[in-house]
Amino acid sequence: MQRIFLTGSSGADKTAIGQRAASLLGWSFIDTEGILTQRAGLPTDQFLAQHGEEHFCQLESEVLHELASSERVVIATSGESEVSDARSNFMRTRGLIAHLHEPVDINTKEDTRRTLAQRLVSQALIHGHLSVPSLAREIIHLRLENTSSQAIIEWGGLPHLGSILRELEFPDRLFIVTDNQVSNLYAPALRTLIEDAGFKPSIVTIPAGEENKSLECFKHIIDWLAEHKAERNEAIIAVGGGVVGDITGFVASSYQRGVPFVQVPTTLLAQVDSAIGGKTGVNHASGKNFIGSYYQPTLIYVDPALILTLPERVYGEGWAEIVKYAMVLDTDLFTLLEENLTLLQTRDPALLASVVARCIRMKMDIVQYDELDLSSRHILNYGHTFGHALETITNYETWLHGEAVAIGMEVEALIAVAAGKLSPGAAARQTKLLQALKLPVRCPGTNVAALLAAMQHDKKVSAGRLSWILATRIGHAEICDDIDAALVYEAVTEVCRSKTGEA
Ligand code: NAD
Repeated sequence: MQRIFLTGSSGADKTAIGQRAASLLGWSFIDTEGILTQRAGLPTDQFLAQHGEEHFCQLESEVLHELASSERVVIATSGESEVSDARSNFMRTRGLIAHLHEPVDINTKEDTRRTLAQRLVSQALIHGHLSVPSLAREIIHLRLENTSSQAIIEWGGLPHLGSILRELEFPDRLFIVTDNQVSNLYAPALRTLIEDAGFKPSIVTIPAGEENKSLECFKHIIDWLAEHKAERNEAIIAVGGGVVGDITGFVASSYQRGVPFVQVPTTLLAQVDSAIGGKTGVNHASGKNFIGSYYQPTLIYVDPALILTLPERVYGEGWAEIVKYAMVLDTDLFTLLEENLTLLQTRDPALLASVVARCIRMKMDIVQYDELDLSSRHILNYGHTFGHALETITNYETWLHGEAVAIGMEVEALIAVAAGKLSPGAAARQTKLLQALKLPVRCPGTNVAALLAAMQHDKKVSAGRLSWILATRIGHAEICDDIDAALVYEAVTEVCRSKTGEA
């Protein structure tokens, strides 16, 4: 039942919030008040004065019955603050009812509307109203020498998480790590659904943001586990983006020398990349992901519908990692992205679910043969040498990870063209696609010397030489360790050039 009914008094801003929720979901929005005014031929207050409340309610019920046959719709009901039991029951059997209580504070109107709209979407998801029967559950296995991992991908399937954890026979106590923004949207309902499956969840919340992927935060989570006397067979679950996933994975690999670990990635970037493959870690003043481990999650539960509540910029950065896969491994994916920009922008369920599963499959295939990133897995670092350096020298404050990687891919394309390995036409297609996805391709005014120095901390430096991942055509890349430093300098200078041409 893909339907949300909004109730609440007329001051509750149902129209504005409902419109924003409908836009996040890609659904239609219907305001019953407008339809009623049209049918009655009078504004509501005049109709009420002339015909009385009973007549008005009857008319509204008729309208609601008609509208309740539409799918993928947010319906704002008229401005009564109390809804009769009969009407509530009618709506409850046909969708999610959300009662908007508080009148919106004029000073924070837009932010409040956005947050309430996101909450509506998260409620609809958690209560099972976003599932699309045609998008079947997909399971992808990663089998390694000493361990295994499985990803379950299921659009709108989050309500099944409790029963899946039960099937995997985790002990009753579950330790959930999330960040404050994800917690605001999902934690209360997530707690309930996990409790409904018979578990006893405890939740710790860390502040959102890359600057918190730190040893201090790592210690905070370890202290919390120790206070709860978490035991070796009890699972830790990361519910969040790459920051929560990376730090929680590192905690899981270290606490009592390793406890079971589950990832529930909630950003596009985390679903297609960071939650897969077992790289965990935290940042250090010397560099990004400087401290960490390889530790495979037992389960990666991926519900791409979680992406619907992502802010536009965070959604956009996820596409950088998807373009990365396409550039180094998958020509057809690159073309698919080029041809479906509108569907990508509207967060189309079928397209998102299939792209997410495709990227997970690719990453697992690579990790299968090179879990520890000693050889072939290097190509998944396309764009990351420069990207990590850019994040580090700007203190993780200016660029999101995916944005820094997008500029890094441009640097590597410039090097590849200059080295005669990539055609200018292929490089131009990459630039065009990144720009169409609203990703940055330049970082004007950034300090070139600082970037070059920070790149020397990259994990791909060996005997002082840095290896580069260079695309040789769309869908194929090579690892090159004989690249002339002058070409690197030229490429980095080019992306840092300010509009006036100075580097
Ligand atoms: P993030 O974890 O910082 O999340 C971005 C923002 O989105 C945060 O503010 C978060 O609170 C919010 N958010 C998360 N889910 C949400 C949801 N469903 N609705 C609304 N808001 C939501 O950033 P990220 O882009 O997910 O991850 C970046 C991190 O991933 C970097 O630290 C990067 O190094 C790491 N990474 C790791 C690997 C790996 O293999 N381990 C690979 C790629 C990237």
